[in-house]
Amino acid sequence: MRDITPVTVARGDGIGPEITDAVLYVMNAAGARLKVEEVPAGEAVYKRGHPGGLDAAGWGSIRRTRVFLKGPITMPQGYGNKSLNVVARTTLGLFANVRPCVSYHPYVRTRHPRMDVVIIRENEEDLYAGIEHRQTDDVIQSVKLISRPGSERIVRYAFDFARSNHRQKVTAFVKDNVMKMTDGLFLKIFYEIAADYPEIKADHMIVDIGAARLADQPERFDVIVTLNLYGDIVSDIAAQLTGSVGLAGSANIGETCAMFEAIHGSAPMIAGQGIANPSGLLMAAVMMLVHIGQGDIAARIHNAWLKTIEDGIHTADIYARGLGRVRAGTNAFAEAVVERLGQTPVTMPPVGYSTMRPAYDGLNRLAPRVRALKELVGVDVFLQWSGGLPDDLAELVLPLSTEALTLASISNRSQRVWPDGNADVFCTDHWRCRFLANGGPVQHGAIVELLGRLAEAGIDFTQTENLCNFDGKAGFSSPGQ
Ligand code: NAD
Repeated sequence: MRDITPVTVARGDGIGPEITDAVLYVMNAAGARLKVEEVPAGEAVYKRGHPGGLDAAGWGSIRRTRVFLKGPITMPQGYGNKSLNVVARTTLGLFANVRPCVSYHPYVRTRHPRMDVVIIRENEEDLYAGIEHRQTDDVIQSVKLISRPGSERIVRYAFDFARSNHRQKVTAFVKDNVMKMTDGLFLKIFYEIAADYPEIKADHMIVDIGAARLADQPERFDVIVTLNLYGDIVSDIAAQLTGSVGLAGSANIGETCAMFEAIHGSAPMIAGQGIANPSGLLMAAVMMLVHIGQGDIAARIHNAWLKTIEDGIHTADIYARGLGRVRAGTNAFAEAVVERLGQTPVTMPPVGYSTMRPAYDGLNRLAPRVRALKELVGVDVFLQWSGGLPDDLAELVLPLSTEALTLASISNRSQRVWPDGNADVFCTDHWRCRFLANGGPVQHGAIVELLGRLAEAGIDFTQTENLCNFDGKAGFSSPGQ
């Protein structure tokens, strides 16, 4: 008797219960070796006062099984509730979001018949950390954090994925022409890691033109790896291009836990009618079976599903006259898949999966960094002020310079406005005063002394950022001219 794998399943909201039933029915008929632990998730749980959409028993089950198949959730509108997806990604360390986006030409209508792209999105960092502060009356900031280990982990995952799935190319989408330090770090690591995979072509594109090319010629792409925000947007574009949001599944992968779901939402307008397409969740279930080492069952289901699509048995969202033969409801579609278990598609290429459980640890193996020599060479002091022109602020702040730190520049929304500022720059009430060390590096005490003087003078400083050199190289950007 081969191993039975415990998995946590949540039916979710809207069409969630009906498509989950269909998917469990297909997996059962295909011989998936699962022990399903069902947990409530979504609206009902939010209403019981659990702001993350799962109760303690639900989290306990996921921590035990480490595998979570999740139906779509109706996102709470009420203040204070959190998206279950976002909470699960961060609390379970699900660092990689994997979305295969495939066309099923000529059976499903699409403008891009040869599309077969996998988007791999970093899932934990970037602006999604949600570190936001209102600093002044007019200005709110959101902090974009990109780490070296986080970037390494997702990039290596993407190359490992490409290697084990016989993919030819990995393309990084970044905006390093503007965010030279954060996106620049991601890109540098991308090429460092690419060197370990000489058989896979590596290239990169600026995300804006990359997204435009993807929308126009998706067949030019193979695997795309990108940061959290860009990946969120680009993967929705890619999924839409294949023909229906009802077709694609996704995996959220961590070192110990993983979550699998359809990319679509709970579609409340069609809930309870028995017409929803279960394919997105079924493709997620296929990814789950590969993840738990049941690639043989995954392939059996995937091939039967492809044959069903080829035979023209389509749910309403993809049914088109001339392409579909039978417009099937959710259950009839699932039954058609079950009837075809053991068959393979005739025109579309059949799929095959390994039964080896993929490992996601050991992704951080770049040579350990030699700790850089870090020297404190200044401080940016952000402050709220509405007292006049930049020269007036300089007149106020310059005399507060200390023996160690002197006011070097003032900028507003990153544009330098003093000295030699451009009078056309629109200024808000949010100013950055850059103080640089007079000569060599300074100690933290020098900043404390400076802030003491600013406080005594009644300056409303809202934030400071230390300016450091790392091995003699500036670890901070310069204000725009
Ligand atoms: P949606 O994906 O639920 O629906 C968009 C459109 O696609 C609708 O016309 C819907 O009828 C159709 N559709 C979606 N899935 C389908 C399927 N399987 N078969 C046939 N047609 C399908 O997006 P929405 O309407 O913007 O969101 C509805 C709810 O779902 C919201 O509360 C939203 O926050 C939530 N949502 C949840 C998730 C998730 O749980 N991962 C993802 C996206 C949206």
